[in-house]
Amino acid sequence: MQISVVDIGKVLTRTSGYLQTVASHSLQPYRGCALGHSLCGVSCYVQHSRHITRGRTWGDFLEARQNAASSYLRHVQAERRWARRHRNEFAIFLSSATEPFPPQERRFGITRSVLEAMVEHPPDRLILQTHSHQIEGAIPLLKRLADVCDLRCHLSIETDRERVAGLPRHGSPVERRFQAARRLRDAGLFTVITVSPLLPIADPESFFRRIATSADAVVLDHFIGGDGSKHGSRTRRTRLPGVMEAVQPGSSELDYRDLMAEIAERRMPERVGISIDGFAGRNIRGNPFPRRFRGRTKAERAEGSGKIGGRPIGD
Ligand code: SF4
Repeated sequence: MQISVVDIGKVLTRTSGYLQTVASHSLQPYRGCALGHSLCGVSCYVQHSRHITRGRTWGDFLEARQNAASSYLRHVQAERRWARRHRNEFAIFLSSATEPFPPQERRFGITRSVLEAMVEHPPDRLILQTHSHQIEGAIPLLKRLADVCDLRCHLSIETDRERVAGLPRHGSPVERRFQAARRLRDAGLFTVITVSPLLPIADPESFFRRIATSADAVVLDHFIGGDGSKHGSRTRRTRLPGVMEAVQPGSSELDYRDLMAEIAERRMPERVGISIDGFAGRNIRGNPFPRRFRGRTKAERAEGSGKIGGRPIGD
């Protein structure tokens, strides 16, 4: 893989398209993805963006944006004003087009530096989306962030299978991601497991039972309706649907997602979201996911009141 260190002009990007309903901005600490040749890279929709790949093979390059934190600090005030005026709140999705915790993050620390900048100048809401258990190394920092903004940690676990016949290995083992989810949740951080894209599940009852004890909510995201194209046509150009059908006939159709959602809902009532609505923090009924812990309210944060840390609400 070719790794380079680059500077970026503006790291805060105003969202468009389907991401608009989830966040006002996206932020990519890297360009390219170190997990591009792993299982999630097979159907990763970012590989179809010529603007990002510039003709390079997905998984073959990683650009570390060394000035991401300083770029954030330079633009945060203007972008916060714009977001509150045009999008109701200043909400950041980190990241939609790369993995924020690749193995190289240990060397470069780009995501960490951005999160530290956010502690000083927080967004209203931060949605941290990762495919890697390495997020657990950031827990102390994330707890500080949860005190100053509405933080949701999204950890993708697509299936309970460590190996899926016909696909490469996971970039981060399923078992390690479950452990990381549990650690995030035990640290009082609002944790969502995103089953994205939904792959054939060997034992759905056990899988969702485990999710119910490892996370606060779950999002089921089938490639149909989840890959940003009509009827999943983008993913249908990859080998993923064929592999899914070979492992579990019917799993490449939406009925499979609905069946899994039924099972999940029995285990986690009110805590199951579907596709983009789920990513936006809403359950199947369109209500916000219920929270075990609540950080400071928006009003308390605006006042800078002394309340620090989450307080239990409900279980
Ligand atoms: S980690 Fe995310 S961005 Fe990277 S290949 Fe997987 S799905 Fe794509």
